[in-house]
Amino acid sequence: MPGNRLAACSQAACQYNRSMPAKRDPLAKVDNLPARTAKYAPVAAALTAVYGQLDWSRNQDGMDELVSCILSQNTNDSNRDRAFARLKAQYVDWTAVRFADLEELIEVIRPAGLGKQKAPRIQEALAVIYAHAGDYNIDFLEAMSLADAKAWLVSLRGIGPKTAAIVLCFAYGRPAFPVDTHVFRVGKRIGFLPAKISADNAHPVMEAIAPPADYYQFHIHLIQHGRDTCHARKPACDRCPLTAHCDYFAALD
Ligand code: SF4
Repeated sequence: MPGNRLAACSQAACQYNRSMPAKRDPLAKVDNLPARTAKYAPVAAALTAVYGQLDWSRNQDGMDELVSCILSQNTNDSNRDRAFARLKAQYVDWTAVRFADLEELIEVIRPAGLGKQKAPRIQEALAVIYAHAGDYNIDFLEAMSLADAKAWLVSLRGIGPKTAAIVLCFAYGRPAFPVDTHVFRVGKRIGFLPAKISADNAHPVMEAIAPPADYYQFHIHLIQHGRDTCHARKPACDRCPLTAHCDYFAALD
């Protein structure tokens, strides 16, 4: 069961990973990781009290999730969804998308913007997937180790750690923590993440801080909190339940 898969990477295993001396391990550069980790339980409890308990459920298969993620780059959810709906309405299957006229595909996905980048990336990803699997299907990721599945996805042009984590977490229930713009901002303000960390390096930090079984729910709760309360320009700290645990709030006069 996907829920069990999320739990499969135990907290103990992650504690072990934290203590591994790895030269290029992004965790090695994170100061005061125990204090950052200690914030998890009270923050998660407060967010769950506000936004409710969430169980993993798959909304899209892996292919739809991957292509939707490519469309989502540098745009909002509404534009992504309009472009994805147009793509699905225009083409009967992924073969048709792969071999579509490039200019036509650019026009079809126009609502998502950056069509000249995204259309070739989609077609290139489809070609790589077909060459690997003999089909337009990435369910083979389920049989890979988590590290291999991440590495395979980020080997696709235009796919970074965030998209890889979204595909693995949302489509397959694997324990990968996506760090989007809301998670990145809220995570830095609360103090889960160092102020100067890159978005890519934030992924392993969030994965070390939260229990794997909670990645899905905590990711979604942080996004909801970023949209509802911890806004980019003016966070509504006066009505936030996280003030006791938030470094940004503690630094206010
Ligand atoms: S206290 Fe303010 S800055 Fe901290 S999480 Fe809440 S809204 Fe964001």
